[in-house]
Amino acid sequence: MIRRRETQQISVGPLVIGGDAPISVQSMTNTPTKDVEATLGQIERLQEAGCDLVRLAVPDQEAAKSFGLIRKRSPLPLAADIHFDYRLALAALDQGADKIRINPGNIGSKQRLRAVLKEAAARGVPIRIGVNGGSLEKGLLRKHGGVTATALVESALAHLDYCREAGFTDTVVSIKYSRVPMMIEANRLLAGKTDRPLHLGVTEAGSVKSGLIPSAVGIGTLLAEGIGDTIRVSLTGDPVEEVKAARRILQSLGLRREGITVISCPTCARTHTDLVHIVEEVEKALEGVLRSGVVAIMGCEVNGPGEAREADIGIACGPRQALLFRQGRGEGKVPFDRIVEVILREVERLPPTALQAGEEPHE
Ligand code: SF4
Repeated sequence: MIRRRETQQISVGPLVIGGDAPISVQSMTNTPTKDVEATLGQIERLQEAGCDLVRLAVPDQEAAKSFGLIRKRSPLPLAADIHFDYRLALAALDQGADKIRINPGNIGSKQRLRAVLKEAAARGVPIRIGVNGGSLEKGLLRKHGGVTATALVESALAHLDYCREAGFTDTVVSIKYSRVPMMIEANRLLAGKTDRPLHLGVTEAGSVKSGLIPSAVGIGTLLAEGIGDTIRVSLTGDPVEEVKAARRILQSLGLRREGITVISCPTCARTHTDLVHIVEEVEKALEGVLRSGVVAIMGCEVNGPGEAREADIGIACGPRQALLFRQGRGEGKVPFDRIVEVILREVERLPPTALQAGEEPHE
């Protein structure tokens, strides 16, 4: 059982982050924000995949106006991603942003940051202080001899202090970096020094294929230690893949109720049927299903019945057909060519709370 670090809570529109709120999944659109219809289409796909909060880049005033149009029709709360120009943060707030993400290191003078904080406070909008290894302040780079975990934490704490001194405490903070050991070390250090909610991510992780592992290791290690309140898996590709990956990380740690965890054997010479394709078909059909539970699909009678019994729905293949288990009870035989159909039918019957947040999933 994972014991989560105690943090303050913030509200991003209807979404609560931190404290005992479920760990939320974020992603970022990669359509031009100026293209309102394409961006809304992507937001809808992200919602279907189980995303809780979507970030949109606001690189100029035209994008800020489009942000407002998108916000009016978005089914999910929206964060505005702002760099360099504090006026874009003000414009995004004016256009209804639910959250602002800034890197105070590149937003300009303290007065400009103060203007953003004042406007966000007036509207009850939280701000994410995003510190990134790639844009650490020059003074800190000189002082620490380059990007180090201590330098990243020093930067984040200085920005949080500045916000607090300005009377603004509605913050969430992130330290992201592409090197996983340093990202982990910096977040561990930061978690011991602030009670603000933490947003986790590994930047520049790579493509959908290669980026999953660094993100899973970096984010998963911290989550397993109880650190992290909201996550984004950054991948070069369709952001829907980020959401699927984030949900899998949370499911594998038993930190999220919704979603079906599919466990399957690696197959070997004993495998009785084409398990690879069966598992692929089941996983594809279950993408975005927000019912919760564990489905086990096993290739033979060696470990099959044991694992299948432990799952909410289990299939253990035998020489000529498979055995179906439901909540540990044998439910009869299933021809190989009906395994997918039977699993999907059984998933429809699962109660929505079969796997509780924080509970260990079946191994
Ligand atoms: Fe092989 Fe059976 Fe184990 Fe699957 S469950 S890997 S088929 S021994």
